[in-house]
Amino acid sequence: MLEFQATKDLLINKTILVTGAGDGIGKAAALSYAKYGATVILLGKTVKKLETVYDQIIAQGSPQPAIIPLDLKGATEQNYKDMAETIEEQFGHLDGVLHNASLLGALGPFEHLDAKSLEDIMKVNVTAPAIMTKALLPVLRKAPNASIIFTSSGVGRKGRAFWGPYSFSKFATEGMMQVLADECDETSVRVNSINPGATRTEMRAKAYPAEDPMALKTPEDIMRTYLYLMADDSKAVNGEALSAQ
Ligand code: NDP
Repeated sequence: MLEFQATKDLLINKTILVTGAGDGIGKAAALSYAKYGATVILLGKTVKKLETVYDQIIAQGSPQPAIIPLDLKGATEQNYKDMAETIEEQFGHLDGVLHNASLLGALGPFEHLDAKSLEDIMKVNVTAPAIMTKALLPVLRKAPNASIIFTSSGVGRKGRAFWGPYSFSKFATEGMMQVLADECDETSVRVNSINPGATRTEMRAKAYPAEDPMALKTPEDIMRTYLYLMADDSKAVNGEALSAQ
């Protein structure tokens, strides 16, 4: 268990981008980062959900967030370049990125693999965070200490029957984390991954329809690791695959 207690001003003056910030774990992370003082940039597909999170952040008295509506399935490198430029203009630097948005896709036997679905999952889970990170690295390097967090999964660390492209996309996520962490070693940018573990969200309910959601931890319950990796407390931690539970 991680021995770390978040103090009130933990993320004060930090600007943090969260993908998939409209729902589930990304929503909890955005609210939590804001609560500890960060200005949060909310990126996601469904604008209405992002607006709800925006309103909740304002209502809890946290710094005014920003919204970037973007569907990672259709996003291009130019979208990410423009995004990086806007962030630099508005904030000067970026202290953290939580790559959280993901597609689960259909689970089932390998023989039922659908080429289009495989492409979509790899685009959202691997290509999008890779090209987004490429575009954001210059503005991340402008921060005194920057943290990049990739979101993995238990099935991204050990393959499991019927978990298909979602599982091997998460292996790619871990690989991307390791390659980038090694490149960033001894620099101001650190790169790590989190496996959230079983958490009460829509994605989990889709993967385990027969499970009792009330038996699971909520996204709010697992925020300690998410806060730790964004805080300066973890500035010497690089290339680690952490678990939130
Ligand atoms: P949810 O399905 O609850 O939330 C996923 C978020 O990603 C939503 O906000 C969704 O936006 C966004 N998203 C999905 N597709 C796109 C897209 N094309 N473009 C932009 N945003 C998109 O999932 P969780 O909160 O459960 O999962 C969060 C992360 O944690 C994922 O990476 C997942 O793989 C990982 N994880 C979760 C576990 C769990 O038990 N919950 C266990 C292990 C790993 P919208 O709502 O607008 O569609």
